[in-house]
Amino acid sequence: MEQAEQQLSEIKNNIAKIQQNMAAACKRVGREPSSVRLLPVTKTVPAERLRIAYAAGCHDMGENKIQEAREKSEILNDLNIKWSVIGHLQTNKAKYLARFAHEFQALDSLKVAEELDKRLQIEGRAMDVYVQVNSSGEASKFGLAPEDVHAFVANLPHYSSLRIKGLMTLAIFSNDHERVRECFIKMRTLRDMLRQEAPANLSFEELSMGMSGDYEIAIEEGATVVRVGQAIFGKRPLPDSHYWPGLA
Ligand SMILES: *Cc1c(COP(=O)(O)O)cnc(C)c1O
Repeated sequence: MEQAEQQLSEIKNNIAKIQQNMAAACKRVGREPSSVRLLPVTKTVPAERLRIAYAAGCHDMGENKIQEAREKSEILNDLNIKWSVIGHLQTNKAKYLARFAHEFQALDSLKVAEELDKRLQIEGRAMDVYVQVNSSGEASKFGLAPEDVHAFVANLPHYSSLRIKGLMTLAIFSNDHERVRECFIKMRTLRDMLRQEAPANLSFEELSMGMSGDYEIAIEEGATVVRVGQAIFGKRPLPDSHYWPGLA
């Protein structure tokens, strides 16, 4: 019990600190703090600890693997969690996503769009969707090449159960802040173009970018959603190369 209390206050403190940093980043560029959403990323965090996170105010949770997200959503189905799947999806897993997820941030193929739309119609629901773009050009990252996004987006009005909200990206993993910032600027520029030119009924207001190491830079460059895991829950036991194979 005492341990749970300690975990609760730890998570609360971490979130408060991140929110302060987020507000400061907004202030530096003249944005409203309410224009950025914090999406806690819960991969590898056990379900029982997520109960504590929920009590600490995390009601949205991001998972990058569908299987892990599904298991947790079943264990925690007594809580009103909005699950966001933020990692690559195989077409044959779209049926599971359609059943429990609130949001999908990693759309990068028309096959997945088609199957997800079909499964959502069977379930009688719609889903918020972000198109994932590979802004760094690294082979280890999923997502469309920026130059392919326009043609891709032109097909999306066909899938009436997908509520297209915006773009998602992972910046280059680098200690060189300017190279990270360039990825975010590229995404904002692309989003702004899509706002002008995208087909009717698609919305490109949202930009999901920024993680524990770079969310402040992302906010300075226009992020409306930041996906933060380790800064809330502590370091993961497995290295990033487990999640992004091919990474040095
Ligand atoms: C794990 C993950 C994050 C969060 O990374 P942290 O370093 O834990 O903040 C963000 N986005 C995606 C797609 C992830 O898989």
